[in-house]
Amino acid sequence: MWGRLQTRDRLRRIGLQVESNCPLCGRDSKTADHLLVQCIYVRSCTNELNRTLQLSPQYNDLDNMSAWLHKPITSRFKSHKIQCIYAALVYSIWMQRNSAIWQGSIEHYNKVVQQIKTDVWMRIQGVMPKKVQEKDKDWLR
Ligand SMILES: [Zn+2]
Repeated sequence: MWGRLQTRDRLRRIGLQVESNCPLCGRDSKTADHLLVQCIYVRSCTNELNRTLQLSPQYNDLDNMSAWLHKPITSRFKSHKIQCIYAALVYSIWMQRNSAIWQGSIEHYNKVVQQIKTDVWMRIQGVMPKKVQEKDKDWLR
């Protein structure tokens, strides 16, 4: 699935002239692994998100990130919450990448992380099961 992203290396392979540097960090890397996992900007977002959520995942590419996301954690609710947060993270990074390309600016990673937490919390409240432990409810606030 990750090979379908229209990253710059894929656009170049189909013959389009595009810059080879990452739009987020400026380094010479254009793979989906770099854009969504390895980029220093993405690592800043991910590290801050993991720090506030007390997570310590070990992965260095999209396949390993996906494998980590599908491992059961302490509770089904918490596993789904983490998957939701990481989906929001990937979406936010993609939006920052587009903003870097089209508007020439990106948000500070702290602001991105705060927005992810706010968005996910608002969405989760609507589908929160009745039997959720208080510590799981407090986890995102
Ligand atoms: Zn980068």
